[in-house]
Amino acid sequence: MKIIPKPENITMLEGNFTFSNSTQIVGLDEFLSNDLRKFVDLKNGEKNSCVFTVAQIDEDYRIEIGENIYVVANSNEGIFHAVQTIKLLILEYYKNEYSYIPCCIIDDNYKYEYRGFMLDVCRHFYSISTIKKIIDAISLFKMNKLHLHLSDDQGFRIQLNRFPLLTDIGSIRKGTRGDGKPVSGFYTQSDIVDLVKYAKERYIEIIPEIDLPGHTSALIASYPDLHCKGKEIEVEEYFGIKENVVCAGKESTYQFLEDVLGEIAKLFPSKCIHVGGDEAPKTQWMECDDCKETIKKNGLKTYMGLQSYFTNRIIKYLKSIGKTPIVWNEAYHDGELDKAATIQFWADGRKAQNVKRALKEGYKLIYSNNKYCYLDHPYSILPIKNSFKAINEMNSLMQFGNVFGIETPLWTEWINGEDKLLKMAFPRTLAIAELGWSIAPGDYNDFKDRIDNGLDALFVLDIASASEKQANPNIVSSFFGILKFYAKMIDKELPRTIRNFKNIKK
Ligand SMILES: [Zn+2]
Repeated sequence: MKIIPKPENITMLEGNFTFSNSTQIVGLDEFLSNDLRKFVDLKNGEKNSCVFTVAQIDEDYRIEIGENIYVVANSNEGIFHAVQTIKLLILEYYKNEYSYIPCCIIDDNYKYEYRGFMLDVCRHFYSISTIKKIIDAISLFKMNKLHLHLSDDQGFRIQLNRFPLLTDIGSIRKGTRGDGKPVSGFYTQSDIVDLVKYAKERYIEIIPEIDLPGHTSALIASYPDLHCKGKEIEVEEYFGIKENVVCAGKESTYQFLEDVLGEIAKLFPSKCIHVGGDEAPKTQWMECDDCKETIKKNGLKTYMGLQSYFTNRIIKYLKSIGKTPIVWNEAYHDGELDKAATIQFWADGRKAQNVKRALKEGYKLIYSNNKYCYLDHPYSILPIKNSFKAINEMNSLMQFGNVFGIETPLWTEWINGEDKLLKMAFPRTLAIAELGWSIAPGDYNDFKDRIDNGLDALFVLDIASASEKQANPNIVSSFFGILKFYAKMIDKELPRTIRNFKNIKK
């Protein structure tokens, strides 16, 4: 059976169940009942039934397919997961407008609580309808978090009533790397309300991110007082690491950010808010009297210490309004970070040592090592078969502490347009979905045998995915793909990024 993510156990039985338009669906609300019945076109056929019940069981859901289908799930969310499994079975065994599903018993449970997808809507803007397509797809494969990266150097993408300039100024840039074509766009508050509701119906929690204190050129362009010296800058049109970060010394910065996060918190019911913390050069702080004074007053040793102080103050505020903070792994430094933070691990190499230490110290971890999880990397750098290798590192990290789950980020510096976006995301996201969900995931060859049904399901959702072959390019096209990807990064702003990179760890 071609189910992605792979269920914990399937026991095959004799015979088939014919799923048709006459199959009576019992125990589902109208939304899920329609979703199940209309996934593919079905004709009227023999009378049988598919019955859903919530009961206390020690797995997420159990499906028994015989003369009728009986589903028992531990919760409404488990019922939703069972519906997704049945949709994939209906599609796999679909023939002449009926689906002849082999009789079997499926027992299933999930491995990680957090199974996420991240979309960067700052470098390029994506419409609500594109995000809904992504929600349709990730929920079909039993992921449960959508992390929206809403603020970066190249754009601020959400309307806040208290700070209209964040969108009047911060959501517009003059062009991209000198092309002279303006890029703009933001979500209104009613867009967000609509999106949150859509996601909730599909058991997806939307986690907003306001990246701080770095990657804040769009914030500073809108409200220059946030800058150490009140410098007037423009929304960035080049990518890389920028030296303009918000001042960590002025009290007014903290007040502003609390007001921003307070309004964000009201829009998103999620328990979590992501506050970034990656790639923050200390260049401006080193020349700022307010920042220096804050270091002195609080007995901090370094500018990295000032970043920890800054992040901990933001975390303290988030805790006071009942939210759990998530940060990128650079925000964890010398054991100074508030223990309430969940750390998202994206950078490998030396930093992986830090990650082990953080786990041992009791922090929760979301695994997103760019080597296996970054969907913006072309398939030549990250073929889908390599995404599967994340499992080894995840298993080894689990010895050290609490691996909360996995997330696959899609950064959009080099991705403009829905078609390209979806081709980068899929089918690789299916591999990450399997690693997040399956207690005993298959190896890549086992996954490969099931992928065609996954691609067909994406097609039903109007998503043109890359093919399995495109997702595993041969050596020659990989070589040129890698060259092309890195050559693209060379531009007049590269020396600035290198200079700023050196000032991150000060
Ligand atoms: Zn400052």
